[in-house]
Amino acid sequence: MHIDRQHVFWASALPTLAPRSPLTEHRQVDVAIIGAGFTGLWTAYYLKTLAPHLDIAVLEAERVGHGASGRNGGWVVGNIAGLERHIGSLPMEQRRFCCQVLADNVDEIGHTLSRAGIDADFHKGGAIYAAARYRDQIAIQQDYLAHLHELGHSERACHWLNADQLAEKALFRNGYGGIYHRQVATVNPVKLVTGLADMVERLGVTIHEQSRAIAIGSGEVSTHGGTLEAPTIVCATEGYAERFHDLWRHVIPVQSLVIATEPLSEATWQEIGMAERPAFADASRLINYGHRTADDRLVFGARGTYRFGGKPKVDHAISDADIRMRRDLLVDLFPPLEGIKITHGWGGSLGLSRNFRPHVVLDRKSGIATVGGYAGEGVAASHLFARTLADLILERDSKLCRMPWAFTNASHRELLKRWEPEPLRWLAAQAITFSYAAEETLMKHHKSTPLLKPTLTRVNDYFASIIE
Ligand SMILES: Cc1cc2nc3c(=O)[nH]c(=O)nc-3n(C[C@H](O)[C@H](O)[C@H](O)COP(=O)(O)OP(=O)(O)OC[C@H]3O[C@@H](n4cnc5c(N)ncnc54)[C@H](O)[C@@H]3O)c2cc1C
Repeated sequence: MHIDRQHVFWASALPTLAPRSPLTEHRQVDVAIIGAGFTGLWTAYYLKTLAPHLDIAVLEAERVGHGASGRNGGWVVGNIAGLERHIGSLPMEQRRFCCQVLADNVDEIGHTLSRAGIDADFHKGGAIYAAARYRDQIAIQQDYLAHLHELGHSERACHWLNADQLAEKALFRNGYGGIYHRQVATVNPVKLVTGLADMVERLGVTIHEQSRAIAIGSGEVSTHGGTLEAPTIVCATEGYAERFHDLWRHVIPVQSLVIATEPLSEATWQEIGMAERPAFADASRLINYGHRTADDRLVFGARGTYRFGGKPKVDHAISDADIRMRRDLLVDLFPPLEGIKITHGWGGSLGLSRNFRPHVVLDRKSGIATVGGYAGEGVAASHLFARTLADLILERDSKLCRMPWAFTNASHRELLKRWEPEPLRWLAAQAITFSYAAEETLMKHHKSTPLLKPTLTRVNDYFASIIE
């Protein structure tokens, strides 16, 4: 399936590309990569850059960028989901080092793109995590900032903005204050993933589209049309993992939906600010985030959902009701947007690991690597983790190989927990969503509920401690 240009704003102005040839033969290569999203393509890029003699082939079930890489919200975050689980118990010096690696990753993406001449609208405007709707959000965001510092993020990377400082960056309906995170950029992800594919092909990597992996074993991966024999096989299938491999038991798809407005007039931008084009989110456990695009629209995503049975979202279109709900949330943040036209709405699946943290696993015994579990923060992380995997495969003694998320001496089966069977997963997802929504409603209506509110907060803090 093509990236749907009617629904996905990022693809709407780009030319339609001719499909690449599927795999139709038996080939021997050094590395076979399954999945042509950011993880698969960055892995190919770093392997080929560091070891140009390697013969590398990428198999993609559909087209380049079919998965989350071709349909995300475009944030490039100097952080990873579940960071605390990886580094929470390390000494402060090591925590700071890990945070620095994550922060530097954003700049490295920018430098690599500019060196390679890939125009993906990379723009480093930082991100605002705002208390933008209710007073209660101030304490939530201040606690979060303390948590970021405790984890090892520097004061320079993340600091507090009071209401006036926030207003200089963005004019929210109730801009009480917020966190400014310097190490966040934004991109057009479709330009990025297609630019990456062209770049790795120029380096000599073969990409086979419409080549679905249907069986994998130690040293071999098969499609309906052919087979790749390779000592190293990389599974970079994330939220689109299929049953040819048991990774789907450890990483499940969660749907995430995004909208784009029409280009906004200069007068509207005067009313909502964002001259520096920062990314923004407001304090909500239900998640919302957006940014001002290179062509002066707002792209805004909110509220993930889990589908019974862990089915990935294959098509791109979303319903009118889903678009309306996100539009209303956006207008709630920025009232001058009332009446604005929403031109695009799309969705896809991200990968959530049962360990609630991303991983790079190279099982040297079987030669099979699995990378991902990024949750909603994989645009930058996929670059760092792919680079790490390339170093692991090439047995380079780099600092990346010593990161707490990199493993070489076990398989994903030993390192990653398995998800519970249905209906448990679905019921848990419903309970968490309901509880988060109830807490948000109380905050919104400033309800004085002396027992209910603190109880809900405690329950939701507990949920968050499990899944965030
Ligand atoms: C709507 C949405 C918004 C998001 N917003 C952000 C954001 O703003 N910032 C951020 O950091 N992250 C965001 N994410 C997450 C981010 O996009 C992903 O973490 C990242 O793109 C993952 O890249 P990947 O290459 O690992 O996986 P994917 O891009 O999902 O690629 C996996 C590929 O594997 C292929 N595949 C699957 N099975 C097979 C098979 N059997 N054979 C061959 N190929 C196969 C699929 O077709 C797919 O192309 C968002 C995700 C979604 C869905």
